[in-house]
Amino acid sequence: MSDIDPNCAKCAVVEKICRLEKGRGPSWCPTKKEGAAVAEALERYDDPEIKEFARAASIQEGACYTCRDAKPFVMIPTKSRIEELIEFSQRMGYKKLGLAFCGGLTLEASILSEILEKHGFEVISVSCKVGGIPKERIGVKDEEKIRIGEFESMCNPVAQAKILNRAGTHFNIMLGLCIGHDSLFLKFVEGLTTVFAVKDRVTGHNPIAALYTSKSYYQRLMKLEFGSAEEMKSRLVSDEH
Ligand code: SF4
Repeated sequence: MSDIDPNCAKCAVVEKICRLEKGRGPSWCPTKKEGAAVAEALERYDDPEIKEFARAASIQEGACYTCRDAKPFVMIPTKSRIEELIEFSQRMGYKKLGLAFCGGLTLEASILSEILEKHGFEVISVSCKVGGIPKERIGVKDEEKIRIGEFESMCNPVAQAKILNRAGTHFNIMLGLCIGHDSLFLKFVEGLTTVFAVKDRVTGHNPIAALYTSKSYYQRLMKLEFGSAEEMKSRLVSDEH
């Protein structure tokens, strides 16, 4: 990355130009340098459908806090993601929701589905294993499967997307799809889609926990010499011999 590319993640400016009417930004600040992209984006918001969706999303964002008129303002969030999802879907007038979930989270999918139905939505849910196609069909070798030597059906996010497209869902929800499978789902799904949860096999599907612990119990993430968990394991095993 060059030193002129945007790097908002490393912006140390306190009074940021993107958050204050009279703020500042570093030399590579995209608010200062990417006016054309911002203007192009604003034109897209002039599409009534996009505008209404963006407006409802912003209103929903505000509705997730209470005591918003207090001065000085104290941030008091009050709604979990599931409440936010229900409220936003109601706000948009959606009736038919698509649920694309990972087969490994079938229990969670059934609970989410039940809750959404109790709130009056019709839920069309599709497991990632839909179709039951063997992994060999996409060139996966036996030794590359999770359970070597056994039948494994491929995750089929393209089929999940196609089925939800055919069902004419008003809004779609992704639950626990793996990295890459989620990308394909998003590439092929036609309706607007939100993420309820992402897959993280180690942290109970809370990948940000790894960031919160990266200065303590998960500090090997910050230390290149420790490498991946697999490399650490093989080093420990070879040290034992
Ligand atoms: S847009 Fe500019 S001011 Fe805002 S975070 Fe990025 S670099 Fe900083």
